[in-house]
Amino acid sequence: MVPTRELGMYQSGYPIMWLLTLIAFSIAGYGFYRRYRQWRIGRPEGRTGRVEERLVRVLTDAFGHRKIIKNPFPGWMHWLIFWGFAVLFTGTLLTAAQEDLGLKTLEGSFYLVFSLALDLAGLAALTGIGLAAYRRYIIRPESLDNRPEDGIALLLMAAILITGFILEGLRIAGTGDPWAAWSPVGALLAGLMPGQAPGGLHLGFWWNHLLLSLGFIAYLPYSKLMHIVTTPLNQYLASFEPKGALAPVDFEDEEKEDFGIAKVEEFTWKQLLDSDACTRCGRCQDNCPAHLSGKPLSPKNLTQALREAMIEKGQVLQGLQAATRSRDISGEIAAGDDVVNASLNRQFLGEIISPETVWACTTCRSCEEQCPALVEHLPKIVEMRRNLVLSESVFPAEAQLAFRNMENNGNPWGIGWASRADWAEGLEVPTLAEAGEAEYLYWVGCAGSFDLRNKKVSQAVVAVLKRAGVSFAILGTGEKCCGDSARRLGNEYLYQSLVEENISTLKENGVKKIVTHCPHCFNTLKNEYPQFGGDFTVIHHTQLLAELVADGRLTPKCGLPRKVTYHDSCYLGRYNDVYSPPRQVLQAIPGVNLVEMGRHLEKSFCCGAGGGRMWLEETIGQRINAMRTTDALQTGPDLVATACPFCLTMLEDGVKGQEASDRVKVMDLAEIVSSVM
Ligand code: SF4
Ligand code: SF4
Repeated sequence: MVPTRELGMYQSGYPIMWLLTLIAFSIAGYGFYRRYRQWRIGRPEGRTGRVEERLVRVLTDAFGHRKIIKNPFPGWMHWLIFWGFAVLFTGTLLTAAQEDLGLKTLEGSFYLVFSLALDLAGLAALTGIGLAAYRRYIIRPESLDNRPEDGIALLLMAAILITGFILEGLRIAGTGDPWAAWSPVGALLAGLMPGQAPGGLHLGFWWNHLLLSLGFIAYLPYSKLMHIVTTPLNQYLASFEPKGALAPVDFEDEEKEDFGIAKVEEFTWKQLLDSDACTRCGRCQDNCPAHLSGKPLSPKNLTQALREAMIEKGQVLQGLQAATRSRDISGEIAAGDDVVNASLNRQFLGEIISPETVWACTTCRSCEEQCPALVEHLPKIVEMRRNLVLSESVFPAEAQLAFRNMENNGNPWGIGWASRADWAEGLEVPTLAEAGEAEYLYWVGCAGSFDLRNKKVSQAVVAVLKRAGVSFAILGTGEKCCGDSARRLGNEYLYQSLVEENISTLKENGVKKIVTHCPHCFNTLKNEYPQFGGDFTVIHHTQLLAELVADGRLTPKCGLPRKVTYHDSCYLGRYNDVYSPPRQVLQAIPGVNLVEMGRHLEKSFCCGAGGGRMWLEETIGQRINAMRTTDALQTGPDLVATACPFCLTMLEDGVKGQEASDRVKVMDLAEIVSSVM
């Protein structure tokens, strides 16, 4: 006898089953269509092409749980639920194919193995749901906010699985299935059940299971279960731009009156879809320095606020059957409808999200790095800053000072531009004009040129490069601020004017390769200058130092018997994946005992100075640099190594603030290398 499953027990009910299935899918389809129209109230944005790479990303991120699994408890919990239901859904399709299409999909040894797989999948999913309930209602991590829909989703899934198992038990008990051993859970339950042929009780559970499953499908777009569709879709559509690159503003566009984003419909449709892909898992918030230090910013809440605002405005627009792409719809609304007009004119920025929220971000990119749904938080935050700066002229006074300094002297410190190369006096560092040509342009950056502490880093870089025999030169007074702080603070106009001048200077000097010790300069020169025609090979000094050490051009002259902890800069690590080179250099120094902080690599905690926050007062909550200094001091180090001028300043201040300067030094990697090689 060929092993197979007894099918076709309730053929008389099949027409109703298919009718109900059609209704469930129609309800779900309508819900998704409504949501699609709500996304479309946003501005257009192209996210097509590179289909193969996009599909690979869905395979790795959605099916492979690439990011989710990095947080083991919720990661494996989700994996069990996801793969449990995926296998069960496949089983349902195969059953339908055999039952309704007459295909022999469930026969022979495949049927037996698949029966076992289905039972294990059901158990896995039930275990995952149990863990999810335990985490959500017993552990109650701060990152999870419990809403009724969360409980409903868990109950619904559990009910589908439990009725499925009971149904199986009743079938085995009633039919005396000779292959019951391949369905161990069903066989176990069958032992507890009456042995009559499938009848009333079985039929009752059959309908129960069916209705619950169809209810699940119909409920999808009206609940958090929507993410089963929207999260993979969002992963498919995620950007391929370099992680650190912001989109430029087109100032030539004469139709543009306002810049940046203040209203919901000014976000792009993809940014609105982002908000629906968010599962409220809270990982972004758990790793956000602004949130953890008590500032009024949670990337999760920001994403959820956008979702709610989109739904509100989308519903009004749908109700009015307004053109989804229309930018000026308020004039079409019947005068006198105050409720509708109030909804339409509601500002997202200002009425729902406060400017304080927007200014609290350090642009550390931790939220994006941790987000399993690949939500892109940063462009939204910077677009809102652009609106405040470029359209509203409302921004912190300290930012105004930094902007003015950059405009007048080409550096945020506001020190006279003519003294930009004073740090190099007596070091015999040629400018490119003097050298004629050099392999590398050493891009010093504003901190390395003007900040007293960081000038020492520039001097150390020069010493090390000379020792290794690297051919390099500087621009001298021709270098201007790279514009990173201006761009992140929302002043795109100033950024673009600085970029234009710098690119023209770099091209005039025939620059091909740039090395810089500032990750902010590094990131914008490498990832954003190409947007304006500045295509150069850009490396960070940690990468060059690692190369020189590996090539034997830099060798230790003495050891450094010290306990060293290395702080990953956001713009070097999370933005550009430069994690290994600085560690390789430190490990090449005899005696160095490299110890990692609890938060390191992709989870490194920001120093607090990114996103232009270097120039703003920090008046709310804990100081971020103090929190990061605590991380560092907890390793009991003699030395904190950095590779960013801002981090160096913030951590040195932090160490002073915790009165640890007498026992712990903060040094740039170049200074450490210069002292031993
Ligand atoms: S970039 Fe950093 S500071 Fe800004 S929202 Fe994301 S995690 Fe928070
Ligand atoms: S934005 Fe991403 S990380 Fe944050 S709660 Fe939503 S899904 Fe989770």
